Amino acid sequence: MIYRLQERYGVAKTGDLVDMLGVSPGTVTNTIERLEKMLLVIREPYKGVQLTEKGKKIALNIIRRHRLLERLLFDILGVEWCKVHELACNLEHWINDYVAKKIEHILGFPKKCPHGNPIPTEDGKIFEEVEHPLFEVNVGERAKISRILKEEGATLSYLEGIGVEPEKIIEVMEKSPLNDLIIIKVNGGARTLSREVASLIMVRKT
Ligand SMILES: [Zn+2]
Ligand SMILES: [Zn+2]
Repeated sequence: MIYRLQERYGVAKTGDLVDMLGVSPGTVTNTIERLEKMLLVIREPYKGVQLTEKGKKIALNIIRRHRLLERLLFDILGVEWCKVHELACNLEHWINDYVAKKIEHILGFPKKCPHGNPIPTEDGKIFEEVEHPLFEVNVGERAKISRILKEEGATLSYLEGIGVEPEKIIEVMEKSPLNDLIIIKVNGGARTLSREVASLIMVRKT
């Protein structure tokens, strides 16, 4: 979860970890202290937590298993796009590196999960593209959706419903900085998104 928050915001705030994990603040604080003693994270006062190199290596290994499982569930088993993340969250702890490698092989070495997020290689490398949050695209510009950073079911089923998926082309029609809203053209229709949601959608400018 720390890795995922770092992907989004550069740093993982304790409050966000509490929300995402659905546990008490005390549990998060204790766990962070434990991870710090194990030299897996560093704490920056008033900012949050960041993974050390050692911590990042472990996180990438779990992320790899998670994203490969998502591909397996989606491509082979036909599980819905908005449901694979939650299932993979449970299954990722039950497979080892050997099984992950077998999945990778049978799927033909996929580069991304069904939500467009990159799959780390066996030796812990991750390919990051030059991307921008959707909210940063200027009015009148077109962009291609590359990845959705938040993979929780409710967000995804909403986005799927309006046609916001990786590789789709969108155009920014209007932005109102005061209301923090963005109106985009997708699938031929106009859709309004909040800044919060638009910041979770990464795009490549076309
Ligand atoms: Zn996921
Ligand atoms: Zn995913």
